[in-house]
Amino acid sequence: MKLSNVIAGASAAIVAIQAAAYALRGEPDLLRPPGAHGEKDFLARCIKCGKCIEACPYRSPAPAPQGAGIAVGTPCIDAREQACRLCEGFPCVRVCPTGALRAVEGHRDVRMGVAAIDEELCIAFQGMRCEVCYRACPLIDEAIVIDYRMREGDAIHSVFAPSIVQDACVGCGLCVERCVVGEPHTAIRIVCDAERARTAGS
Ligand code: SF4
Ligand code: SF4
Ligand code: SF4
Repeated sequence: MKLSNVIAGASAAIVAIQAAAYALRGEPDLLRPPGAHGEKDFLARCIKCGKCIEACPYRSPAPAPQGAGIAVGTPCIDAREQACRLCEGFPCVRVCPTGALRAVEGHRDVRMGVAAIDEELCIAFQGMRCEVCYRACPLIDEAIVIDYRMREGDAIHSVFAPSIVQDACVGCGLCVERCVVGEPHTAIRIVCDAERARTAGS
């Protein structure tokens, strides 16, 4: 079996496990393409036609797998596998026939979620220079900044810690895709639905 198939299979399995866990908790928290408002609103409007999936030049969204409960078949993004590139003109949004994905003005107006850094896992917080997520971010120095500070209890070494600017992060997941900390847990993840619901007021 080709390595790419093994990786794709593992990634699908991780999404399936996450989806199952969310479904069990009754809290679907799948990363949706740009233009999705709160999860309830999105699920009410999405007819699972797959047009956004077909329209994406990066094959970023895929149908939510078995185990996702009522969300099965709806488009979701595994940021670790293929994050959203925030395409000019948002082809995924343009083809959505129901308004499940609603028009967004530009990439700064997208609200897919908000990145969150796990300081226990992030190697920058352990004193290593990384900044990979910072450099991957399409909103570098807006959505992620580097907080330069001295290490606690150490007068010589400094920490170059990535820090998320909540109001500026659009949740595209490029930081997650590139994080140098591997499976099973990256040091950065996207918190999805709460942010979309808050922004959309739904
Ligand atoms: S903005 Fe582009 S990369 Fe992101 S889901 Fe839509 S078509 Fe795919
Ligand atoms: S999700 Fe990550 S890469 Fe995307 S805007 Fe937020 S911090 Fe930047
Ligand atoms: S890429 Fe990952 S490990 Fe590196 S600074 Fe970002 S969150 Fe930390």
